[in-house]
Amino acid sequence: MIIRFRSPLRIALALFLLAGVPLPTVASRTYRVQPGDTVFQIARWHGASPESIARDNRLTRADYIVPGQVLFIPEPATLADEKLYTVQNNESLSTIAQKFQTDLSWLRQRNGLSADQIYTGQWLKVPSPAQPGTGGNGKAYVWNLPALMARHPGKVFLQGTTQRKQVALTFDDGPDLEYTPQILDLLAQYGVKATFFLKGDMIAGREWVVTRMVREGHLVANHSYSHPDFRKLTTEQIVTEVAKTAGLVKRISGRETAILRPPYGEMTAEGLDRLVAAGYTMVNWSVDSKDWRADHQADQILASILAQVKPGAIILMHAAGGSGQDLTPTVKALPALFTKLQAMGYKIVPLTDLLPVAAYQPGA
Ligand SMILES: [Zn+2]
Repeated sequence: MIIRFRSPLRIALALFLLAGVPLPTVASRTYRVQPGDTVFQIARWHGASPESIARDNRLTRADYIVPGQVLFIPEPATLADEKLYTVQNNESLSTIAQKFQTDLSWLRQRNGLSADQIYTGQWLKVPSPAQPGTGGNGKAYVWNLPALMARHPGKVFLQGTTQRKQVALTFDDGPDLEYTPQILDLLAQYGVKATFFLKGDMIAGREWVVTRMVREGHLVANHSYSHPDFRKLTTEQIVTEVAKTAGLVKRISGRETAILRPPYGEMTAEGLDRLVAAGYTMVNWSVDSKDWRADHQADQILASILAQVKPGAIILMHAAGGSGQDLTPTVKALPALFTKLQAMGYKIVPLTDLLPVAAYQPGA
């Protein structure tokens, strides 16, 4: 593994401070060992036992870790009215109680705390607002999905059948000329078939990449034209976004897309009505590799996916990034991902093997 010397965390931190917003409170599933850390400490911060961390990371000696090493930290199970919060610098149990409008006894009891001493980076269970969509980081993914699924049974999916040890790999936001061809090379080398959710405005000038996907047995699906948040668009605009990309794919491949992944997984009820009527199935994901994150390197992407993977998992990765976004870690993670999944007994299959859906419109 090549070690790259960069400090994305520091840059990200600076950006957050400049923007005047608090650090994100997303509970990470991986932890990079810092100088001076011990497994005991790391376990304590994350509400885990040293034994479970040693076991999950296959540590030969529970006390032997090295700075820079990535540890998978199992997230403690949370109840429906709880969520995980990462303690920020200078916070105390009482400031956290205030922040989440709860009291010390709730925090002590739910977190099994024997003392009120807490640590920066520690995971705490805090009350989760009953109303969805009010999460601290503005990410409302998932909250209206149950309603969409109920509205159109069998037309909205997050994962496939759990009956078989199969998973599907999906790559969003391509095609590009940098990462997508490298991903295609690796898929070909390992004989793996994937699904590419294409962003229409990426296609011009890269038609050959789409042709290559189809020719090499991958599925191409629709990821809108310009990647807007559909919940901020009118139904007409949603339909136009999808139709534009479908038209481009049809011109290249002769087939019209029938699977859609809306950008950010966001969809309106009315938009879905129209798209289902037009023959579409909406397919989101159950495992987010977070491969786009600037602070995620290949080993973290891999650890994060393998920790979340279950039979029927739909794994979200990216085949292209925004300008300046480096997806080298995604590409680097793939060979190990293929071999590890295989070693765990998983078969990587196209989406259409995992779900009762067709990739393309009938007769197209
Ligand atoms: Zn996307």
